Amino acid sequence: MTNPAIQFEKISRHFGDVKAVDEVDLEIRDGEFFSMLGPSGSGKTTCLRMIAGFDRPTSGRILLYGQDVSDLPPFQRDVNTVFQDYALFPHMTIEGNIGYGLMIKKVPVSERKRQVDEMLDLVQLPGFHWRKPSQLSGGQRQRVALARALINHPKVLLLDEPLGALDLKLRQQMQVELKAIQKKVGITFIFVTHDQEEALTMSDRIAVFRDGKIEQIGTPAEIYERPATTFVAGFVGTSNLISGETAKRITGDARMFSVRPEKIHLATANEKIPAEMYSADGVVREVIYLGLYTRYMVELDGGETLVVIEQNLKSTSMDVLKAKDQPTRLLWSKDHINHLGA
Ligand code: ATP
Repeated sequence: MTNPAIQFEKISRHFGDVKAVDEVDLEIRDGEFFSMLGPSGSGKTTCLRMIAGFDRPTSGRILLYGQDVSDLPPFQRDVNTVFQDYALFPHMTIEGNIGYGLMIKKVPVSERKRQVDEMLDLVQLPGFHWRKPSQLSGGQRQRVALARALINHPKVLLLDEPLGALDLKLRQQMQVELKAIQKKVGITFIFVTHDQEEALTMSDRIAVFRDGKIEQIGTPAEIYERPATTFVAGFVGTSNLISGETAKRITGDARMFSVRPEKIHLATANEKIPAEMYSADGVVREVIYLGLYTRYMVELDGGETLVVIEQNLKSTSMDVLKAKDQPTRLLWSKDHINHLGA
């Protein structure tokens, strides 16, 4: 069996009193698209910098394909980094930028040219050889930065919020492309982001960070459907959290559970409750029409407010707004609740 691409053994990085990363154990598999997701300051970038060798752990070991690299300088590690600000050489052509790593390694010109062509094809910029970075759009520059890193065939590619500077549409397009490129080259990608949708779209697995620790590691579906903690439930998507008396009334069990807004169906008051469903009665307090779907804020009889999202398959804005201030019965499948830790 292949060694994991990256192993963290009780890795900590403290800056004075700040525990940027605190006793993290982690395994990233060979060929995986792995995302580190978390709010600002949760320790993602510090983890990435320690893998790259730009920063050293205060304690613990980092292994790259089984080899302890904790004390190796960046250039002796078989990893490359793509940054948000591209870090291209402005005075060099695109060909010069992408071929830079090979030039340093003294790869002959003809072979360099062949590989640069291959990379330009991979990132869908054929024929861009002679332009300068200033003559490219943000998305194109990011592709060049990617090509420049991939031409070295690193074992692991580190990406630090690489799409952060792009507008939403381009960002979404690049997410799909980046994932396709990763599949094609088969290199382990480690992607840092604070954007949960981005992490869900691209990753094979995600680690959710909070205050220098990992709260949960799992596939996008596991993280979304079975968040392990209230923090994960709240940070990844919107979640309704129900506990105590209300939870007991609904499920017969006072333990806290989460249910996603899109799993809840807004029914008429007194609608029959199917055996496979849970229900809760309340009043619709807010109706927010968002084109593709409508978001309802429903105040339960126990006082809690639940968020419900329904697609506007047949309804118009006029239809959905009529629900405001009306009593309603919420129904959701028993399969769609998830019990949570702290
Ligand atoms: P962001 O999404 O904002 O980049 P992050 O999750 O990547 O955040 P880190 O950059 O890893 O977070 O920072 C984690 C914590 O460590 C923060 O509290 C930060 O202020 C602190 N920190 C990071 N680098 C240093 C440093 N060189 N000196 C002191 N504190 C630092």
